[in-house]
Amino acid sequence: MVGAGPAGSAAALHLARAGVDVLLLEKSGFPRDKVCGDGLTPRGVHQLVRMGIDINAPGWMRNRGMRWVCEGRQVEIDWPRLGSGPDFGLTRTRRDFDDLLAAHAVAAGARLRTGVRVTAPVTDRAGRIVGVTAVAGPDKEPVRFRAPLVVAADGASARTALQMGLERDPRRTIATAARRYYRSEDRSHDPYLELWADLLCSRTGRDLPGYGWVFPLGDGRINVGLGALPHRRHGAVDLRATLDRWLPRLPEEWGVTEENAASPLRSAALPMGFNRHPQYHRGLLLVGDSAGMVSPWSGEGIGQAMEAAEVAAETIALALARPAGPGREHALRQYPTEINRRWGRHYRLGNLAGDLVLGRYGYRPVLHPRVMASPPLLRTLARLLTHVADEPPRDTIDGVLHALMRAVPRTRPRARSAPPS
Ligand SMILES: Cc1cc2nc3c(=O)[nH]c(=O)nc-3n(C[C@H](O)[C@H](O)[C@H](O)COP(=O)(O)OP(=O)(O)OC[C@H]3O[C@@H](n4cnc5c(N)ncnc54)[C@H](O)[C@@H]3O)c2cc1C
Repeated sequence: MVGAGPAGSAAALHLARAGVDVLLLEKSGFPRDKVCGDGLTPRGVHQLVRMGIDINAPGWMRNRGMRWVCEGRQVEIDWPRLGSGPDFGLTRTRRDFDDLLAAHAVAAGARLRTGVRVTAPVTDRAGRIVGVTAVAGPDKEPVRFRAPLVVAADGASARTALQMGLERDPRRTIATAARRYYRSEDRSHDPYLELWADLLCSRTGRDLPGYGWVFPLGDGRINVGLGALPHRRHGAVDLRATLDRWLPRLPEEWGVTEENAASPLRSAALPMGFNRHPQYHRGLLLVGDSAGMVSPWSGEGIGQAMEAAEVAAETIALALARPAGPGREHALRQYPTEINRRWGRHYRLGNLAGDLVLGRYGYRPVLHPRVMASPPLLRTLARLLTHVADEPPRDTIDGVLHALMRAVPRTRPRARSAPPS
């Protein structure tokens, strides 16, 4: 396993529970920071519950829904009460979250080695990955590990996948986002994740092709940030300047000022909409940001990384139960098929929405005053953005969303040509 973010640690945990000997290699040491909004929607919470993580323990901050703010109006949309998942979201800093998840993977039996930076895949004559090389510790001692299967969970850099020849799909978007922590007793216990749809780009004065957020952390701090999709209409968005233009609009009593800043502003990339494929290739499974699994609708990627990790772990455990050869390969190709079954249509539609609307005009058209005045439309929108619905459908909104998804043609996971012999 290369990388111990949510993708790597969740995959390691599920694999260890399935009795597989798993080695988790992480270049950093825990606890460590990760630039993120720190927010989980119910689908992500569902994954934590499935891993047996105690979300009632101190340190977790619950939210009951989203509050959208646009043109002076605001609406609160509670997470749906579904039969098949939690009806709340969570926040927790990634410094804590990733540390906790890695510790759970270790408690389940995974072997974690921190301070080990993977440098290259080791391949056999047929081009199949059979291990990795790395440098370990402060002296950068060269090391080599062998494994029948490797999971690339090394995040947006996707270095392992790239070195195996898996280029990024140029048609898929890479958004950028930035966040900063502030001390704000006033907002830190807000029961809603707040999202602003009418931010203006500093340079062009046009709507930001993205949104701003204020997420409560429950510990006296809030996570404030903004993200933008790239589009030629806007050129490069200066996130810092756009943030500076937005913050004075926040109520004064929240105290989101320079004196209350609790961290520097940091930004990072969000690889979206399945931007790297195939997700299984010659012994390598791509999970999380390394496969561009961030939702093109919302910019969430933690829940997706953990859910894909569970699918990958189950696929690997079943594949390893077969002897090496065509039967095992057949089992491994089930991974992209299952990922595509779960998200393929939702992401295709999201990619289209990103190209046609969100990347051009941002979220303001989506939060048209008529939509904001209509609770059923808002509830539908919330489920569409966060991919939260019962299957089979249990209510009218589920039914509408399922019909919409069925109207989107399925994609077939792309196979790669055979390696040169
Ligand atoms: C500003 C911002 C805000 C965001 N907000 C949210 C949000 O609120 N909610 C949400 O769901 N998602 C959010 N995301 C997306 C989310 O952060 C990612 O989708 C998520 O972290 C993906 O998890 P991952 O495990 O695939 O990758 P990462 O979390 O990036 O983990 C990769 C790990 O691999 C390690 N690694 C990398 N290279 C190597 C190597 N060569 N050798 C060994 N280890 C290596 C890294 O150190 C890291 O620990 C946000 C992203 C950004 C940039």
